[in-house]
Amino acid sequence: MSQTEQRIGMLGGTFDPVHLGHLRSAVELHEALSLDRLHMIPAQQPPLRGRPQVSAKQRLALLEAGIGATPGLIADDRELRRDGPSYSVDTLAELRGEVGEQARLVMAIGFDAFLRLAQWHQPERLFEFAHLVVIARPGYDDPLPASLMELVAHRRVDSVDALMQRPCGGYLPLELPSLMAISATYIRERLEAGKSVRYLLPEAVELAITQDGLYRQRE
Ligand code: ATP
Repeated sequence: MSQTEQRIGMLGGTFDPVHLGHLRSAVELHEALSLDRLHMIPAQQPPLRGRPQVSAKQRLALLEAGIGATPGLIADDRELRRDGPSYSVDTLAELRGEVGEQARLVMAIGFDAFLRLAQWHQPERLFEFAHLVVIARPGYDDPLPASLMELVAHRRVDSVDALMQRPCGGYLPLELPSLMAISATYIRERLEAGKSVRYLLPEAVELAITQDGLYRQRE
C-alpha cells in the first residue's frame, strides 16, 4: 500500500546563501507531499554555473543555521563529500540505495531550474530513481521548450496521490501556497552593495553572514 511507504524528498541547490524562498518552499513541500523528511543538499560544484564565491562548507553552515530545528528538514552534506561535479542523478541513486526500492523518492526543483533540466547530466535517468516535482516560482511562467516536453509530458500526473502510487518516474507541477520572489542573486547583490537583507533570510543566517564578512566583494 502506497500510504505505508516512506516518502523522502530532496531539494538540491547552491544555497548561496539559503533564504526564506528555499526554506518556506521546503516546509510547504514537506507538508503538501506528507514527506517523512526533506533532504536539502548543497552542491559542491554546481555543474551549470560558475564557482560560488563562498565555500561549500560555508554554504552548508549557513544552511544548517537556516534550518535550525525545523521538523522534517535536513541539511545533507553528501555532495560535499564527493569529488567532482555534483550530478543529481548520482545523489538520487545514493538516496535510493539507502531508502530501498519501495520508498517514494521525490526530487523537487523550482521552475527556473526545471527550464534547464534537459541540459543536466543524464536527465532521463533521474526518473529511474525519483519523481520530479516542479515548484512554481514568481517571474517564471515560460512555456516549456520541446526538449523538456519530450522528457516529462508522458510522466505527468495531476495529484500528489497519483504521484505516490509508485516509487518513482512521475512528474507533478506544484503551486505551493507562499510564492516568494526571493533569489540568492538578489541577496548577494544587496550584500555587495552594503544594503539590508533583513527578512529575506533567517536571522541566524544574516548574523553568520555578517560575523564572517561573507558576500562583501564581487569576484
Ligand atoms: P541564484 O539566484 O544564485 O541562482 P536561487 O535563489 O535560485 O539562487 P538555488 O540555490 O539555485 O537558489 O536554488 C535551489 C532550488 O530552490 C532550485 O530548484 C530553485 O529553483 C529553488 N528556489 C530558489 N528560490 C526559490 C523561491 N523563492 N521559491 C521557490 N523555489 C526556489
